[in-house]
Amino acid sequence: MRYRFLRFPEGKFKAVTFSYDDGVKVDLRLAEIFDKYGMKGTFNINPSHILRGEFEKFTTPDEIREHILGRGHEVAIHGEQHIAPGVSRPVDAIRDALLGREQLEEIFGTIIRGMAYPDSGVRRFHNGNSYENVRGILENVGIVYARTLGADNNTFLLPTDWYNWVPTIHHANKEAMSYVDTFLSQKEENYRTASRHPRLFYVWGHSFEFRNNDNWELIEEICEKLSGKDDTWYATNMEIWEYCHAYDSLIWNAKGDVVYNPTFHKVWFDIDSRPFSVAPGETLKIEIEYN
Ligand SMILES: [Zn+2]
Repeated sequence: MRYRFLRFPEGKFKAVTFSYDDGVKVDLRLAEIFDKYGMKGTFNINPSHILRGEFEKFTTPDEIREHILGRGHEVAIHGEQHIAPGVSRPVDAIRDALLGREQLEEIFGTIIRGMAYPDSGVRRFHNGNSYENVRGILENVGIVYARTLGADNNTFLLPTDWYNWVPTIHHANKEAMSYVDTFLSQKEENYRTASRHPRLFYVWGHSFEFRNNDNWELIEEICEKLSGKDDTWYATNMEIWEYCHAYDSLIWNAKGDVVYNPTFHKVWFDIDSRPFSVAPGETLKIEIEYN
């Protein structure tokens, strides 16, 4: 075996995901657009607005249950009080992440482990905090991934550090459509064995930006262009984390030609440009003829 790369469910080469912050009412319009184009999104919510009953501006639990969770989208943590953990005292960062998680789980009666950092997140540090410390806090609070900001790029890579998950673009990036086109032009068969890593397109923002700028056609266009592709998996942030976690949990022999899948996910991968999958509980012998 020379090279092995993850493939998404059904052996797909690419995935698309969205992450939208703050839980404002127009999330519901955005969720409808995602539904129309078969997209899956993650909505990052501050429970303090819900517990204070600020429903003029923010979505209600019933609206979230019906239009977000009920349509296969994800609810994730965005802090209780929406404070950037990097510039907070460690004790405040602990409280904000933990209460953000506990209160959302209480409201929705489910397990919530994803997060998007509020404000500057882990781009700036102050009050004795550091990236390593914030990461440790989130790990101890049971959060498994956290989306950060910035570094817009068109490398389409999966994160190597799930607590520093950098999106592909904010939707208002002036290069957004060009990045979409570049992503669409990436075809598995065009890459040689060493470059066949999976591709991810990850868009983030706030739905109120579309309302404030009256440019809903922008997100419609992004979704329409990305939609309906046979080689693409449309998934929430957490679905991507869970699947990648299953891939990383596969157990291999030293030679790399026997694999055991201890997870509940069927897992796909590419070895030296050949497709394979291993079912939950299965031990698979990999047979490859090299010319
Ligand atoms: Zn926010």
